[in-house]
Amino acid sequence: MNITVSGIDIQVNKKKIKNMHLYVKPPEGFVVVSAPLLVSRKSIENFVRLNIGWIKKQQQKFENQPRMTERRYISGETYYIWGKQYFLVFRNSSRNHFKIEGNSIFLGMKEGSTTEQRKKYVRERFREILNGQLDRLVPKWEEITGLNCDSYKTKYMLTRWGTCNSKARRIWINLQMVEKPLECLEYVILHELIHLKVPKHGKDFVAMLDKYMSNWKDIKNLLNNSPLDSYQQTNFCV
Ligand SMILES: [Zn+2]
Repeated sequence: MNITVSGIDIQVNKKKIKNMHLYVKPPEGFVVVSAPLLVSRKSIENFVRLNIGWIKKQQQKFENQPRMTERRYISGETYYIWGKQYFLVFRNSSRNHFKIEGNSIFLGMKEGSTTEQRKKYVRERFREILNGQLDRLVPKWEEITGLNCDSYKTKYMLTRWGTCNSKARRIWINLQMVEKPLECLEYVILHELIHLKVPKHGKDFVAMLDKYMSNWKDIKNLLNNSPLDSYQQTNFCV
């Protein structure tokens, strides 16, 4: 079902859920409402009207945020590692290789390699670079805070910079963190380590951030205002 409220088109998905949820999806700021099966159209319209300020703010944010163009892994494209810009130089090569020199990333892959194959290969190289820093920085922040995780892993995530499974004492770091300035990675590590002790972002959580990283708000802003991948689904909330 589709409805229009104050000139905004909204897609309504009825589901077996208890409460209504509102989503503003990039890149265009398309609005979706998930609603319980029995909720009336009027209630949904009221719910949207109540949140119209928030919707417009989100849409504005998506409009203003820089976005990287979709990568094809060809020469001349720009990539970021720890906030520094590099230019890709692609060459056909019988052996896959990935080498950073000066401001360039030299990528060599078999002739006829597909975008998907290049993406997969580059992603694993980025994962190695990220892991190199995690191996250094996770122990550093564990020592500072006295909070220890059992393991940390990396994965490509569309909605979070990091997550914490406090039961398994496992931390997940978004692969895209390799693109951001290193201090942003330190912030996400600290953030997730604190979650081992404090699950929600309440007063206690903020007090611990303040204690260990007095400029965390600036770093968080730096992170959340950095260019997003072209296929990013939602804005991040760490
Ligand atoms: Zn959090």
